[in-house]
Amino acid sequence: MSLACTIHAALDLRIEQETPRAVGPHDVLLRLGAGGICGSDLHYYKEGRVGAFVVREPLVPGHEASGIVEAVGSEVTRVKPGQKVAINPSHPCGRCDYCRAGRGNLCRQMFFLGSASVFPHAQGMFRERFVMGEAQLTPIDEADVTLGEIACAEPLSIGLHAVQRAGPLLGEAVLVAGGGTIGCMCVMAARLAGAAQVIACDINDRALEMVRAVGADRTIRSDQATPDELADVAEVAIEAAGSPAALATCLKATRRGGRIIQVGTLPPEVPFPANSVMQRELDYRGVFRAHLEFDWAVQAIRTRRVDVRPLISAQLPLARSKEAFELALDRSRSTKVSTTRVLVSG
Ligand SMILES: [Zn+2]
Ligand SMILES: [Zn+2]
Repeated sequence: MSLACTIHAALDLRIEQETPRAVGPHDVLLRLGAGGICGSDLHYYKEGRVGAFVVREPLVPGHEASGIVEAVGSEVTRVKPGQKVAINPSHPCGRCDYCRAGRGNLCRQMFFLGSASVFPHAQGMFRERFVMGEAQLTPIDEADVTLGEIACAEPLSIGLHAVQRAGPLLGEAVLVAGGGTIGCMCVMAARLAGAAQVIACDINDRALEMVRAVGADRTIRSDQATPDELADVAEVAIEAAGSPAALATCLKATRRGGRIIQVGTLPPEVPFPANSVMQRELDYRGVFRAHLEFDWAVQAIRTRRVDVRPLISAQLPLARSKEAFELALDRSRSTKVSTTRVLVSG
């Protein structure tokens, strides 16, 4: 038997016993290493839904996780028992037109772990033991790289995909609006991509401390800045806050001919100044999850080309998931706490 954290409805989170499914020839039995609680996990917990995706049966959350190999199927060659692994939660179908065109994150039949977007739901990884196809796994043999760091591969992949969508950044100034986990990942990704200057803005001093800790060159309190301080500061602006105010800041901050990259999820209806996009020849580009960037993120973390350690705060055992979710919820609301990542561990 094995423990699983399951969300039955809003604020109804339980720890239950389950039996992991049988290990097929290409499967691997994993023990949870660490799992990051993401904004979408918090929405499932707090509201029982993320936008249109409603919890209709008990859902195991968790799509940002690392594991330790316990047993392998007869045909498995990528990993062996005892190894730490990064786990890619994304299962594009490989058959649809988008997959065939190399854009797996846009797959028509995506199966993404820890999501109620499909029914039966795609069960996630906040469970003591679970079985995963070996294709999803990358072994990490570096002894000093922790399971908590490896669990940051998925959110880092979003930052890398945002930068990939932005196009070449070498020599450019980049503004990241929003200093939460994804904003921090975007800051680190922009540095990795050669941006000459990375500026970050937020309305929270603690968030600005965090973006400085991960390498932002300059920070701006967007709610206190004068219009002049914000105008034309960057060739590229990345909206990583999911707020209309942050989008307005991005539009103000982007130089003529520049690009705005939308990573955050905005409310359903947001007024959009299309004429400013037209007159200033701005490119407005969306970012949805990530594709090849997952492997790049794993590589960057294992070599510490990107150091995610400042982002990791509390780590609680899986059996105390409810507490971990409450803590993460508290921190998402708090303006006094500078730490952003709360992990559960196996
Ligand atoms: Zn996430
Ligand atoms: Zn597909």
